[in-house]
Amino acid sequence: MALEHFILYIIVFLYGIIIGSFLNVCIYRMPKGESVFTVGSHCMNCKHPLKWYDLFPVFSYLALRGKCRYCGAKISIQYPLVELANGILNLLVVAFCALNPASFHCGDGCKDDEVSECV
Ligand SMILES: [Zn+2]
Repeated sequence: MALEHFILYIIVFLYGIIIGSFLNVCIYRMPKGESVFTVGSHCMNCKHPLKWYDLFPVFSYLALRGKCRYCGAKISIQYPLVELANGILNLLVVAFCALNPASFHCGDGCKDDEVSECV
């Protein structure tokens, strides 16, 4: 794997888990009619506002061992799972579509040397 592809994969994965974190906010708040933009992130149990260092997708969950820093309440495994799933899905899209030149030309698996025939 080329270094530039490896760096791209890391960036895409990080982007994916950040979007996954926002999806968690939407999943939790939208059914309740709460705003996803005006209310800051907070603990669901003690309502304590979260600091910036509590908001790193997946990594904060692991660092806190799945518990709120302020009250010790358990944090649902749903949060890191949604973040990870979105990060992995983003990786798969880039790996199998964006970095595969054939995917831009036809969807039936043509080889690189056949690309000109597919256009
Ligand atoms: Zn708490």
